[in-house]
Amino acid sequence: MKTYRIAAIPGDGIGNEVIPAGIEVLEALAAKRGFALAFEHFDWGSKRYLETGAYIPAGGLERLKTFDAIFFGAVGAAEVPDHISLWGLRLPICQGFDQYANVRPARVLPGVDSPLRDGSAVDWVIIRENSEGEYSGSGGRVHRGLPEEVATETSVFTRRGVERIHRFAFELARARPKKHLTLVTKSNAQRHGMVLWDEIFFEVAKAYPEVRWDRELVDAMTTRMVLKPGSIDTVVASNLHADILSDLAAALSGSLGIAPTANLNPERTFPSMFEPIHGSAFDITGKGIANPLATFWTASMMLEHLGEARAAAGLMRAIEAVTAEGVLTPDLGGVHDTRAVTNAVKRALDRGR
Ligand code: ATP
Repeated sequence: MKTYRIAAIPGDGIGNEVIPAGIEVLEALAAKRGFALAFEHFDWGSKRYLETGAYIPAGGLERLKTFDAIFFGAVGAAEVPDHISLWGLRLPICQGFDQYANVRPARVLPGVDSPLRDGSAVDWVIIRENSEGEYSGSGGRVHRGLPEEVATETSVFTRRGVERIHRFAFELARARPKKHLTLVTKSNAQRHGMVLWDEIFFEVAKAYPEVRWDRELVDAMTTRMVLKPGSIDTVVASNLHADILSDLAAALSGSLGIAPTANLNPERTFPSMFEPIHGSAFDITGKGIANPLATFWTASMMLEHLGEARAAAGLMRAIEAVTAEGVLTPDLGGVHDTRAVTNAVKRALDRGR
């Protein structure tokens, strides 16, 4: 039987609630579809950091490299500054494994209310550059604690890095029915890196005549997402811009609790990582009401990446059947808890094709 080795890193907060729910659903699905998933559990999170001083133990990334995929929850805890937790766990994996293409679909699922008048128009994929740009980590602090203290945070745009993400975005746009791609930029104000970002996009566009494209400044993009959602299909944006726009996209599609993401290393030199967009959600941790749908949708993206397209589609159908029935957690206006939604998805899988 085909067996995939999956590294499960629930991390912090509700990651420890939604990842086990995701594993339960994935195991039920695999049994039905005739493949196996061998999960190995990693305790990498803020508790481990506070006890040992490291999120990832020595040799951890080398171990992680041997898996077919990584199923990740969230990182972030009240006792650890966010920049320490993010750079301690998530970013070393994304950057170390060259997961440069971050794919973030947004869609209003059946039975879910969008804050938009025309929520059904939301059917987008945001592609985020995930290896450099504003989150390159380049910079430093000088004269610490003195009145003349200075901090620099340098955005890094490389020809290779920009070209590969634009190419990836055009390929993905071409595979979608609308074949439309929007370039998000801020090259009016940021006249070096963002101008290179635009120029390389125009060069790459020449190889994809079948894809229609347009260009939008990031500030204007926020209003367009709210006022003209139907004019958007596939979007490519830098690390920071896409980070912000995809939270907006998640809110417009109903809740952060639905939004999935895939951190892809398209060449498959390294494993890719699949995670819900949301963070640790301290305010609801331990209450049993975290919405597991973002994790289930993420699991579907992971199956697609592993080559189990039929199982991936079956899981998406089960998720949609459950939202259509109104089995929703409180973030979506429902009264159900994580367990009830998980059980409902498993039942829908049982019924499904
Ligand atoms: P990060 O910076 O780590 O992405 P964040 O500051 O964006 O985190 P989240 O932890 O994602 O914050 O939470 C933002 C809000 O959304 C919180 O009120 C949280 O309860 C809610 N939320 C996030 N994920 C879920 C979920 N799966 N189910 C229900 N509510 C959620």
